[in-house]
Amino acid sequence: MSDLVTRLLEGLPAEAVLTDTDVLASYAHDMASFCPAGAPAVLVLPREREQVQHVLRVASELRVPVVPQGARSGLSGAANAVDGCVLLSLVRMNRIVNIDPVNRIAVVEPGVVNADLSKAVAGHGLAYPPDPSSWEQCTIGGNIGTGAGGLCCVKYGVTAEYVLGLDVVLADGRLLSTGRSTAKGVAGYDLTRLFVGSEGTLGVVVRAVVALRPAPPPQLVLAAEFGSAAAAGDAVCRIMAAGHTPSLLELMDRTSVRAVNRLLKMGLPESTEALLLAGFDTPEPGAELAAVGELCRAAGATEVVPAEDTAESEMLLAARRAGLSALEAVKGTTMIDDVCVPRARLAELLDGVARIADRHRLTIGVIAHAGDGNTHPTVCFDATDPDESRRARESFDAIMALGLQLGGTITGEHGVGVLKREWLARELGPDSLEVQRGIKAVFDPLGILNPGKVF
Ligand SMILES: Cc1cc2nc3c(=O)[nH]c(=O)nc-3n(C[C@H](O)[C@H](O)[C@H](O)COP(=O)(O)OP(=O)(O)OC[C@H]3O[C@@H](n4cnc5c(N)ncnc54)[C@H](O)[C@@H]3O)c2cc1C
Repeated sequence: MSDLVTRLLEGLPAEAVLTDTDVLASYAHDMASFCPAGAPAVLVLPREREQVQHVLRVASELRVPVVPQGARSGLSGAANAVDGCVLLSLVRMNRIVNIDPVNRIAVVEPGVVNADLSKAVAGHGLAYPPDPSSWEQCTIGGNIGTGAGGLCCVKYGVTAEYVLGLDVVLADGRLLSTGRSTAKGVAGYDLTRLFVGSEGTLGVVVRAVVALRPAPPPQLVLAAEFGSAAAAGDAVCRIMAAGHTPSLLELMDRTSVRAVNRLLKMGLPESTEALLLAGFDTPEPGAELAAVGELCRAAGATEVVPAEDTAESEMLLAARRAGLSALEAVKGTTMIDDVCVPRARLAELLDGVARIADRHRLTIGVIAHAGDGNTHPTVCFDATDPDESRRARESFDAIMALGLQLGGTITGEHGVGVLKREWLARELGPDSLEVQRGIKAVFDPLGILNPGKVF
């Protein structure tokens, strides 16, 4: 038994410390393609905060890297193992500690699955809005690690806007409490916000106080078909400029629509170049749906079909949520971009992606949180074909270059991880990068926390 494992077992039960090579291999990576994963030394599955502290103390002493993990549904390699690391999976710390309807907060452990929190707070007439499409799988800790977004973020905002306070185990094992559980609070620097989206490079979240909202009425969704993705982009601009606040505004291009039909046998309209879904969760959404339908027609929609009821609306949402999995089935492997541009440039981005697909002779399906300008151009390719794999990587990079050129960012919600490290430097520039590295050094002077990620 290695010194590392012996030391870990001093503060953890044997069932929480795993070294079986098959198990380690199955935990070594998240869902991103083209991201190297190293060989971990050990997998630790703690149930208590003190056990996490013990892991970090041992790791600091022995100078062993630690990779925090949630459900490993990430799409940037941020949860991938590095050689000789401790994989620190937080999935067993999955208690909802408290739901407080008066203060509209919940206190949760990091391994709570997003959908489980949503269901639990719904029983109190409340909602936790950030809703990644992976919500039945991903954890709140992972959502905090990546700064996750989702479908209803166009109205309600992203994870960062809902994290009020955190308990974080630092690299040396100390416990840091940040933020607050009050409605307001501005004492000191906002360390809570700093941890959101830090991808496990600054500390390990062991508890979070998250804000809740009163549960809105069920939403009604309208589907509009367009003859071009750019016309759908134009409709998004018209809807937002007219002052509407949809509870979702999502786009699927023809490739995605067809892929979803194949996967779910849904009967979505296959002749459309782009399908736009607009939802409203106000008590009487009829007038808004009608107005948005008119705006879609003015932008060139060939068909506008409001869902008849909430069940039909849910079906359309299920189709949208299945988009990434459906595209994966097209050729077996995908590279999922996450470029976010100002809404006014959405049409240019969509046209540009189509040109990139042609130039590289590839299928690239686009699904998008269109109301946020956040697109997921998804390169479908056969990973066993080296030439196609090379073209896939090149097209993926070309899309990020286009996003930056249009005034956007390389990642709206999936994070940098391993996949976009070199692109981060391009987006931030040297001064910002240096400041960020300085912050990392303050929290992690030995460089043991998720090394090789982000920077
Ligand atoms: C089909 C599909 C659809 C998706 N849709 C969306 C979407 O709509 N919106 C979106 O934003 N993302 C989406 N994603 C990506 C992914 O689900 C999110 O990034 C999610 O937040 C990751 O959560 P996780 O629990 O799987 O975390 P992991 O992938 O395990 O980890 C993600 C990052 O968080 C860090 N981390 C995990 N737990 C902790 C902790 N306790 N303390 C510190 N750091 C920690 C890890 O080190 C890593 O850097 C999708 C993924 C899939 C497969």
